[in-house]
Amino acid sequence: MSDHPTGLSPATLAVVAGRPPRAQGGAVNPPIPLNSTYVSQGAVPPGELAYARADTDAWHGFEDALAALEGASERGIVFGSGMAAIAAALSLLPASPEAGGTLVLPRHAYQTTRGYTAELVARQGVTARAVDIADTGDVVAALDGADLLLVESPTNPMLEVADLPALLAAARERGVRTVVDNTFATPLGQRPLELGADLVLHSVSKYLAGHSDVILGAVVTDDAGLAELVRAHRTLHGSIAGPFEVWLALRGLRTLPLRFERACENAVELAQRLSRHPGVAEVRHPSLPGDPGHARASAHMDAYGAIIGVRPARAPGRTPAEAADDVVSRCGLWVPATSLGGVESLIERRRRWATEAETVPEDLLRLSVGTEDVEDLWADLDRALRSAVGA
Ligand SMILES: *Cc1c(COP(=O)(O)O)cnc(C)c1O
Repeated sequence: MSDHPTGLSPATLAVVAGRPPRAQGGAVNPPIPLNSTYVSQGAVPPGELAYARADTDAWHGFEDALAALEGASERGIVFGSGMAAIAAALSLLPASPEAGGTLVLPRHAYQTTRGYTAELVARQGVTARAVDIADTGDVVAALDGADLLLVESPTNPMLEVADLPALLAAARERGVRTVVDNTFATPLGQRPLELGADLVLHSVSKYLAGHSDVILGAVVTDDAGLAELVRAHRTLHGSIAGPFEVWLALRGLRTLPLRFERACENAVELAQRLSRHPGVAEVRHPSLPGDPGHARASAHMDAYGAIIGVRPARAPGRTPAEAADDVVSRCGLWVPATSLGGVESLIERRRRWATEAETVPEDLLRLSVGTEDVEDLWADLDRALRSAVGA
């Protein structure tokens, strides 16, 4: 679709990819085409539009731009949510009530990914091996006889960093397909296809769209055969995205490099200050030299990301959950809400969800750092943490 020069950097691709061809009097941005059907008779050749559940030009600008950012040779495949993208990716697993396929996934994968996996185990005969994704030996051992490795890195919400190059190479050697949920890192933080992943997926609802106003997902791949299967899954299940949501996501994607850079800078600064704060017992952010994920993130990622894990200090007479809830309720700028990756900073105690993994600490606060002025963010957080412990 785009006719821009080659060899551009990601910050430029985010701006120029997925635009209509340059033409005198032509539009700079793609339109929002509202069509369920297209004029068509006889056999439909590949690539021709016929019915908008199967394909529509409403998706192409975003799909092309995301593929450009991930360095994919195939057009991206947009879905109605991140979960729809995950369901499509996991449909590559063999399924049968007697002997379904074997999936290796992080024990601290996104909670609804874990919920969906439990469903595959209960109803499709799938075997799930939950591993510590940061423990390379553990993961590689689990790959024997497996069909699919799903990697999340950093994990949501524990921020464990996988040795992505090593895991993808080990899976490839063993003929195990690989899917990387790249929601936390974004293509600006890491490009798993370049490291050998078969599929990359996103919850577009987070950083890519970036304004907490849409739910969308996407899959990208270099493999034409896999793209065909994933696209067929979308068509058969009808897990499609609406034209306006996709237009918003493309509009959001234009500023991803600016938003993500600012959010990551803010997160690095806040993580450092939090690690010296009297109201804080533990901070997780891969930028911190003492963080278990620091060396790996420094080696293979281009950014440390903008999610921070914080466990507040315990106040006497309070349970860990109460202490953390108290911090959240004392914030005035940080918004108490789930989700992440928007311009506004969010704070949430993850175990308030009954479906969150039990190995996630009761008092873990997930901070999604936004693009506000870092001093305003700090003032609000510092006050909330201090007043919660009476410091
Ligand atoms: C939010 C999220 C998802 C699910 O995406 P939705 O768009 O909410 O369906 C999947 N993976 C990760 C890491 C997420 O944060």
